[in-house]
Amino acid sequence: MYTIIDGKKVSAERRLAIQNATKERLEKNLPAPGLAVIIVGEDPASQVYVRNKEKACLDAGFHSEVIRLPENTEEETLLSIIDRLNRDDAIDGILVQLPLPKHLKADTVIAHIDPNKDVDAFHTVNVGKIMLGEKGFAPCTPAGIMTLLEAYGIDPSGKECVVVGRSNIVGKPMAMLMLHKNATVTVTHSRTVDLPSVTRRADILIVAIGKAKFITPDMVKEGAVVIDVGMNRDENNKLCGDVDFEAVAPKTSFITPVPGGVGPMTITTLLENTLLSARKNSGQ
Ligand code: NAP
Repeated sequence: MYTIIDGKKVSAERRLAIQNATKERLEKNLPAPGLAVIIVGEDPASQVYVRNKEKACLDAGFHSEVIRLPENTEEETLLSIIDRLNRDDAIDGILVQLPLPKHLKADTVIAHIDPNKDVDAFHTVNVGKIMLGEKGFAPCTPAGIMTLLEAYGIDPSGKECVVVGRSNIVGKPMAMLMLHKNATVTVTHSRTVDLPSVTRRADILIVAIGKAKFITPDMVKEGAVVIDVGMNRDENNKLCGDVDFEAVAPKTSFITPVPGGVGPMTITTLLENTLLSARKNSGQ
């Protein structure tokens, strides 16, 4: 019998705590945490993500600023807006929604954000802190996964953890967080030879590749914990993960569904990072 890890429930509990912390700040005459989100262009998925972030901010009682820029925005314009937000005391967190249009370099733009306001934890300073295990902003999706594991009493220490995918936003920071929790970590990718033989070793299998229902039961060890980061559409245009949930779940001890698993935790961690930044900025 397996347990479905309920990301919606854990997320709702954490968001209530964030809401209460915001109320307490206002009662003490401290400003509400402020998050600015910049979106360039009309990418439909990005528009949805930004709307969700804005709604989450408002529900938490945060100050929210969404800056929508046209597709042809020049780098200089974007950097000057980031400069203005870097100096704005009402803003504790700045997020640039990725991907950017092709003529803009994400590295240059992210490097321009004040690392103390980089609540996505993509700035090289924050990536370095993650690597070193220093205190700082948590990378939103991987940290959300750590929160889920903790909520379900799953201790990574001494466990064999396999991460499928090595992106800068999920796979690599995920591997680091698991390593800091004393898991034995293997990172796999598209050039890994005989992937199933590696994934079958995993006590904790974390999959972030962006391929619908890619992980099948033959790739999973009996009793494994399976965390599915993927967000894809299946042949019926239904949202699904990188794991074939129906087929794999009976083999697992714990598994995250898609939707309702990892997804809700990402924005929750973003809110937590913004609250953390606001606390620092008001000397708390
Ligand atoms: P990405 O940047 O496209 O990286 C995909 C990774 O998967 C790459 O490292 C790639 O290997 C690896 N990969 C691709 N095909 C593979 C295969 N057949 N076998 C083994 N590895 C393979 O993706 P991402 O940004 O990490 O996102 C991954 C998925 O998570 C997507 O579905 C995305 O929508 C979802 N996501 C969800 C959230 C959330 O909040 N729930 C957040 C972020 C991402 P190479 O490096 O060798 O190319």
